[in-house]
Amino acid sequence: MDLTVLYRGPLASCDYACPYCPFAKRRDTTDQLRADRAALERFTGWARSRTGEDRLSLLFTPWGEGLVRSWYRRALVELSHQPHVDRVAIQTNLSCRTDWLAEADPATLALWCTYHPGQTPYDRFLSKVRDLAERGIRHSVGIVGLPENLEHARRLRAALPSHVYLWVNAADGHTYTDAEADTWTALDPLFPYSRHPHRSAGLPCRTGESVISVDGDGTVRRCHFVRAELGNLYDGTYRSALGPRPCPLTTCDCHIGYVHLETLPLYDVFAGGVLERVPAARTPLLPEALLWQRPVPRPGPAGGP
Ligand code: SF4
Ligand code: SF4
Repeated sequence: MDLTVLYRGPLASCDYACPYCPFAKRRDTTDQLRADRAALERFTGWARSRTGEDRLSLLFTPWGEGLVRSWYRRALVELSHQPHVDRVAIQTNLSCRTDWLAEADPATLALWCTYHPGQTPYDRFLSKVRDLAERGIRHSVGIVGLPENLEHARRLRAALPSHVYLWVNAADGHTYTDAEADTWTALDPLFPYSRHPHRSAGLPCRTGESVISVDGDGTVRRCHFVRAELGNLYDGTYRSALGPRPCPLTTCDCHIGYVHLETLPLYDVFAGGVLERVPAARTPLLPEALLWQRPVPRPGPAGGP
């Protein structure tokens, strides 16, 4: 079957110190890192073993930053070469080096990159993003829609290659006036989807049927937000629990959740790039302002653009 899996292991440390994040500058102990590595390697082994059984789309959504750890980079490279893996992606602050990406299959690997002004020099972040484009690595770039981030976002949008989508996440606990929302929508035409939490109670959502969330122990839930367990990945008990079911929560406030709501058109808007948040180049549902989107250029045979 076609299965989308969001994986979040025990890793909870980050090299950045964003003021809006509980994982800022948290450190994992050596034992915690060892456990995270073992859990990820177990998950990677499971994903490899599904060859001939499932077609997989995988998104790593660590609490902290994964790509500064060798085992996440290795897992992404390995999985990108598996014929039954259609996509493997990770959410990252892009603080890591990028040379390891040369070993990955750019047709399968993708990055969801977040720019955190104040945590990294603008020029360093921009040169990393340009490097991704030159390598033909699919990616989106985003920023939290805080007032103090507005000028950073404008500068970044103006500098990014035209085929790179800049998303803006509504800041937690922040209410936007219509004028403020218009300002952000001028940068991200899809900002209206992020502006308010989505009412989801009783609505059909693909999670629990074709999309699951897995933690380091292999516990399977429908999504990161609903705590009820569907079974375990490694003993296969989750499998019989898969099926259509309505959302039990009042609202869904996070892109990695509501993108799967069947009542929203986001599988069409992001066709081919749901996990890494890259919109389709052209769809009838796309606002006019997004028509500048072009497919990411692939490197030529000599590795150049
Ligand atoms: S980069 Fe991400 S995980 Fe790290 S502190 Fe900032 S928001 Fe938190
Ligand atoms: S709508 Fe959101 S909270 Fe509800 S089941 Fe889907 S992903 Fe989970």
